[in-house]
Amino acid sequence: MNCAQWSSVMLLALVSAQAQAQDASAEVESIGTGMGTKLEALESDHFLFVLGVPRTQAQPSVQAAEGAWKEFSAFSGVTDSGELFGSKKPLVGLFAAKAGYDKFAEWYGATYKPWPGFVDNVKRAVFWPQPHPRIATFTHLRPNTPESVRNVIAHEVGHLLIMRWKYHNNFLPPWLEEGFACWIEAKTLGRSNCYCFAGGYGDRATRLDKINDIEWPRWKAAVALQVKGNHDKALKSIIPMTLSDLSAAEMGKAWSMVDWMIAQGEGKFLKFVERMKALWPKDIVFEHSEAKGTAQEKALQEVFGLDPEGIDKAWRAWVGANYKLLKEPARK
Ligand SMILES: [Zn+2]
Repeated sequence: MNCAQWSSVMLLALVSAQAQAQDASAEVESIGTGMGTKLEALESDHFLFVLGVPRTQAQPSVQAAEGAWKEFSAFSGVTDSGELFGSKKPLVGLFAAKAGYDKFAEWYGATYKPWPGFVDNVKRAVFWPQPHPRIATFTHLRPNTPESVRNVIAHEVGHLLIMRWKYHNNFLPPWLEEGFACWIEAKTLGRSNCYCFAGGYGDRATRLDKINDIEWPRWKAAVALQVKGNHDKALKSIIPMTLSDLSAAEMGKAWSMVDWMIAQGEGKFLKFVERMKALWPKDIVFEHSEAKGTAQEKALQEVFGLDPEGIDKAWRAWVGANYKLLKEPARK
């Protein structure tokens, strides 16, 4: 390629980047019109922030979202976010308070009509990951601070990542979805607030500010203690649990199970997610079913060569060898 050809390629790339930036700010402007609020657009490498707060207050969240993508990319080897997100960067809505979050939910519901009852459900929570039709996650600052809200953002980006990997337009098992979101939150920030389990998406979410921030080594120590005392619940009994059944103890095992699966390398974790989705029952049903349990067990067997009891055994041995017991493990 000669010099003139190179410059036209560069020019095309520049024009296309400019066109995308224009699309991004036009989209955020139209969201603002729909919400009846003035919003600001902030585009990072992999996300489009929809801001109802000053840009400086969004900086920790921008770093958290990009950090979560980086962690995903590091363990998976996936470098093209289009594989998960398609051609448009996911929206990350950040509003000053609940009223802005609610208005965004109303805008989203009116624009994309994801399913009946969407807006009411979203309004009962204080953060939301929405994988389809327009990939988005949104939350609000108060009672969080710009610094503490980054845990929510890293965690919710985790939800989007596992939802969107080989997207199957269906529910995921709560232990796996939460386990992965907590895992990526901890990998990104070194600590976890684990918001969603035990009814976090329901009315107990108003107690968000009372949930402790826990450093990952202390969480790991709590899991190590469970394993040492042999009182962790069997994976087979965690698989059918709803979000509100999952207590801190089961959540600890769930993200640690994700930690173990990823540590097995060879792309096994994402292969497992992919196979499980391929085997998932086609009807869209919220509740657990036998078919959902079978899909998980078959995928585990295919990818790790183990049944749930075998997985428990391998995981326990691995935790025993890799997680340190501390004097002060996390207590919840
Ligand atoms: Zn969650």
